[in-house]
Amino acid sequence: MPRTSTARARPRSAPAARRRGIRPQPASPAVLRKSLERLRRLSEASGVSGDEGAVRQIVLETIEGHADEVRVDALGNVLARARAGSRRGLRVMLTAHMDEVGLMVLGVTAEGMLKFDRVGGVDERALVAKPVLVGRARIPGVIGGTPPHLIDWADEPSPYKIPALAIDIGARTKEEALERVHPGDAVVFATRFERLGNVLRGKALDDRVGVATLLELVLDPPPGIELLAAFTTQEEVGLRGAAVAAHALDPQAAIVLDCTPANDLPLWDGRENTTYNTRLGFGPAIYVGDGGTLPNPRLIEHLVRTAEAAGLPYQYRQPGGGSTDAAAIHLARKGIPSISLSVPGRYLHTPLSMIHFDDWRASVSLVRAALARLRLDNIR
Ligand SMILES: [Zn+2]
Repeated sequence: MPRTSTARARPRSAPAARRRGIRPQPASPAVLRKSLERLRRLSEASGVSGDEGAVRQIVLETIEGHADEVRVDALGNVLARARAGSRRGLRVMLTAHMDEVGLMVLGVTAEGMLKFDRVGGVDERALVAKPVLVGRARIPGVIGGTPPHLIDWADEPSPYKIPALAIDIGARTKEEALERVHPGDAVVFATRFERLGNVLRGKALDDRVGVATLLELVLDPPPGIELLAAFTTQEEVGLRGAAVAAHALDPQAAIVLDCTPANDLPLWDGRENTTYNTRLGFGPAIYVGDGGTLPNPRLIEHLVRTAEAAGLPYQYRQPGGGSTDAAAIHLARKGIPSISLSVPGRYLHTPLSMIHFDDWRASVSLVRAALARLRLDNIR
């Protein structure tokens, strides 16, 4: 696998792929409408790491009656088993993390302002003046900071860093604030999900888009495998749910469905940006190596071959930076052949992330086609 190759899309002729029976059937308009509505609900739900209950509720509601077995483990992971037909097939774990990066209330000042810290890698540059929702009651607030007129940039700490900020819920005193919120409450960005043509934008698309994809697979499992679905918790604070889930499910292979940062903005001086790791509009990103995993080479080959044969766009996620649940899963038990497949997203870990609808749909088709063709030979 050439590790230096750049993103590319190579559509194959549809008839050839269809003849070989691997051309994925596009989802019907009714299925697409439901999937998009589900992604909207998932994006707007609160699910900061360790407090994934609202997302878990949507997952459980959606798969009720569609899986052979569903359970919630001690860390809050939803583990579901599903297969099409009676043949057992390869046991393949598919995961998507339910949690999102966010904030946590640490305390309340005498003036009723909430001091907070980050949960996971929230982009500190993007905090000032953002509307937020605090706690399970989703109390509205805004992240307050120094007005620009009065900033002295020589100040320490920097005026846009967390020690200089506080969440304002409109309370006038500590007592008034404590009637509504408490230290330990999780805080999410109050961002509405929107579709603008081919662009989907909202908070927490990392990784609610993966959750939405995995839900589609459980509702309509690909033939030939035993699908072991893990909707995991606490990925953003150290891949914690996935470690436990992989041990419990004991799969023969694993595919992690995530959303990876795209770094594809144009350079200010008009030169072409050649340092992107992924780009929106070039299809799902197949991992060849990240900060925590060197994916199983046979699985890389399997995903690439499937995409080529099915005429689906794909790109290689450039190595380096970050990791996914695969980093924990591939080291579980006696080692599990693993790979990640991500939808590229801009502005991840800020209040508003952005993906392309087409990249998402191609990722659903690719993982479905790859699972339907996956045999023991493909991982040995
Ligand atoms: Zn993620």
